[in-house]
Amino acid sequence: VSELSARQYRTRYHARWVLPMTTPPIADGTVVVEGDRIVYAGPRADAPPGRDEELGDSILLPGLVNAHTHLDLTVLRGFLEGLPFFLWIRTLTAVRRDVLTYDDCLDSARLGVLEGLRAGITTFADTSPSPAAFDAMRELHVRGIAYREVFGPDPAQCGASMDELRRTIRSMEAYRTPLVHIGVSPHAPYSVSDDLFAATAAYARERKLPLATHVAESAEESDLVARGDGAFAAFLLGRGIDVAPRARSPIALLERQGVLAPGTLLIHCVRVDGEDIGRIAAHDCGVAHCPASNAKLGHGVAPLAALRAAGVHVGLGSDSMASNNRMDLLDEGRLAVLAQRIHEQRDLLDAATAVELATLGGARAIGMGGIIGSLEPGKQADLAAFAAPAELGPLYDPHDALIWSLGGAGATLVVVAGRELVRDRVHVGGGLDGQVPQRVARAAARLQSWKRARDGATPTAQ
Ligand SMILES: [Zn+2]
Repeated sequence: VSELSARQYRTRYHARWVLPMTTPPIADGTVVVEGDRIVYAGPRADAPPGRDEELGDSILLPGLVNAHTHLDLTVLRGFLEGLPFFLWIRTLTAVRRDVLTYDDCLDSARLGVLEGLRAGITTFADTSPSPAAFDAMRELHVRGIAYREVFGPDPAQCGASMDELRRTIRSMEAYRTPLVHIGVSPHAPYSVSDDLFAATAAYARERKLPLATHVAESAEESDLVARGDGAFAAFLLGRGIDVAPRARSPIALLERQGVLAPGTLLIHCVRVDGEDIGRIAAHDCGVAHCPASNAKLGHGVAPLAALRAAGVHVGLGSDSMASNNRMDLLDEGRLAVLAQRIHEQRDLLDAATAVELATLGGARAIGMGGIIGSLEPGKQADLAAFAAPAELGPLYDPHDALIWSLGGAGATLVVVAGRELVRDRVHVGGGLDGQVPQRVARAAARLQSWKRARDGATPTAQ
């Protein structure tokens, strides 16, 4: 091809540092994009011809993969503060049922996607009982998996829950796009019966749908599963549901019900022992590690180093804005490393590992390691760049700069499947109406009045 025609269909992104992830960082590197794919990642001097985009003093890496979100809960940021976990999740459930409409959830999810994009996130692994996040991800041209949540702690509900799941999955399938896929998510051991876990897992296998589940998150969950007691047990008994010890651990429970399988995404895995980790690795499951959410809700520190040492694919998840309250994977990576060092009193993990968790690790954990997560010819052109200008002082190592210094800085470029969605920290991808923040503010006002009414406060006159 002539240089002139190459300029029309190839873009060459030049940056001070390029991090391909599968090979060492490249100083003065270039990534060349053609259509929705990467055709070159390497030294600038050897790059094929194309239109030049100079990113200057920037670090260019694969778009970040958020391995666990609830995008439609962005409106709840700051709304559930200070509640113990059991009340936190009860209030969240009540709000979903009594206050938030589909339209509220859609606007809330749109804000969540935008927040992630500005932080360099190009892929979202989202779980929700509503299709709002699925719709927002499609509308805003990001990549993702919408895992449709299913609930039912009473074994008698299993058939009805499965009918509903089949119906909703059928209605979503017509709208699946090359970028946004569908999965299923039996919610958690305290909200899903053994029968429903087994039925969902069988359905996922039959339909070849990815599966995600919250597991081994809290002490209350382990108490319920291993001993049949604690706060969740009392709640289920109060609803007339039989409670008895179910398995030696939540992971053992999932294994027995056929949920552990290649591509299954296990969210949290805070309370796992050596035997659990061995089972997770043997079944080739992925793990979404959510250190900020786990710390904020007081659940503890997941054994990240041990999971990685066992060969488990681990990604980073922000979890919902109701439990984080931020969506910034560089920040999350920083916390992941710090928490391990505090917990283990050793420097087991470094910044390069944290960058890997936020990119290729996450991609592999959600079963997309073959198409995203690294900058290699043939992979999808999902990119994020972060500025490290000379005014900030020296940059000795790009991984250290990203994880230790650049959290919260915002991405200067975000590309998904070759399409530029963020430039200089501003969303340029289109597809959004300007009234979203105002509508979310109105939903927040309704949440506040619901809370006042529930707490029995006298309505005020103003
Ligand atoms: Zn979650």
